[in-house]
Amino acid sequence: MTARRDFDVVIAGGGMVGAAVAALLVTGPATASLKVALIEPRPALPPRPEEPLDLRVSALSRAAQNLLTAVGAWPRVLERQPCAYERMIVWDGAAPVDGPDTLVFDAADAGEPDLGHIAENRAVAAALIERAVAAGVVLLSSPVNGLELAEDAAWVTLDERRLAAGLVVASDGADSKLRGLAAVEGHGTAYPQEAVVGHLAAAHSHGRAARQRFLPSGPIALLPLADGRVSLVWSTTPEQAAELVAMGEDAFGAAVTRASDGVLGDLQAMSPRARFPLRRFQADRYVATRLALVGDAAHLVHPLAGQGVNQGFGDAAALVGEIGVALARGEDFGDPRTLGRYGRARRADNVLMGAALDGLWHLFADQHAAVRRARRTGLGLVNRVAPLKRLFIARALGA
Ligand SMILES: Cc1cc2nc3c(=O)[nH]c(=O)nc-3n(C[C@H](O)[C@H](O)[C@H](O)COP(=O)(O)OP(=O)(O)OC[C@H]3O[C@@H](n4cnc5c(N)ncnc54)[C@H](O)[C@@H]3O)c2cc1C
Repeated sequence: MTARRDFDVVIAGGGMVGAAVAALLVTGPATASLKVALIEPRPALPPRPEEPLDLRVSALSRAAQNLLTAVGAWPRVLERQPCAYERMIVWDGAAPVDGPDTLVFDAADAGEPDLGHIAENRAVAAALIERAVAAGVVLLSSPVNGLELAEDAAWVTLDERRLAAGLVVASDGADSKLRGLAAVEGHGTAYPQEAVVGHLAAAHSHGRAARQRFLPSGPIALLPLADGRVSLVWSTTPEQAAELVAMGEDAFGAAVTRASDGVLGDLQAMSPRARFPLRRFQADRYVATRLALVGDAAHLVHPLAGQGVNQGFGDAAALVGEIGVALARGEDFGDPRTLGRYGRARRADNVLMGAALDGLWHLFADQHAAVRRARRTGLGLVNRVAPLKRLFIARALGA
């Protein structure tokens, strides 16, 4: 006998990725009949127009934009003026930005209007939650504290309730409690770096270009914002990260100007700052009995290529796609066949991306003269070989 279910799908964690799963489920024709709950202790609220841009922004790929458009969330994201970026400029710290080995990706080379958008995380999460709730998702503001998995149903425990579902989606982030409760193991290590973030005003126009310079201590990225400022993601030693967050505004602006080789002229601090530890991680499996892991709960990558949430959106789309296929075939959407298809496909893709980013990180962390020469030549080579460049651009767009 099938256990009584309160919901078909319970999603634990309403960050950008969990909220995307919720919105996709209830707005997609193949899955719209499902009863869905989204459990999130701190649901993102749509920012008020007068609120300053939050510190946390992400480079969203075209594929991510398409997902947000498909569920009807993109117009709300647009209200916060995400910045469409048209070029990506990547260079080695030992070379000048205008040298022959600087890698320049131009959207126009691929016949595209842009390479993606720099958008505010909380605006994206809030827009997705808003769409999900408007289309019938039940939002419960509480943490999930307990999980039981069985062949015919899964149960999650909230503060005062226990809910039965056909499938539980763990989207509760890097330190996923549900992953631990389901005894899903994983592999990963901490990078010897932390990322410092903040917004700065620049003397020169960013020209809608995202810039990244690889220094021996880690990459420093300046991402363009629609108001003319740039958003900094500076991965460096934990000691330097602590200093950068603690120093006065003038010293901080001067440090970022120096580290970015003055590429945008003098930079001036224009926001609070924060730092984040960096790790890489892959769950050994993305599924368990009636459980699917998505987003940071399943994988973590270095932010050097701005891929984390884009990969998470890929998980969301793939999982909802498989659920839709199962429903169309009259199959149980929470059974091992459906989940297995999701888990195998996404893990293969994310492991590949994780390995590529980790390889890139090591390549740039290595200070041997031969490696330094090779990577400069490599950047220059990608820059000059058109098909190789198109391949990279396609990947940046999320194709
Ligand atoms: C400095 C930095 C820069 C980055 N830049 C980019 C970028 O440019 N592009 C990009 O694609 N990615 C980027 N990333 C990665 C991106 O931020 C993450 O991949 C993304 O936020 C993960 O989203 P998520 O929804 O999986 O997890 P989270 O955002 O961590 O959301 C998890 C949610 O689960 C909730 N939760 C936690 N515990 C429970 C529980 N027990 N029960 C219920 N809910 C729970 C939390 O409240 C939270 O809302 C960057 C990361 C860093 C650190």
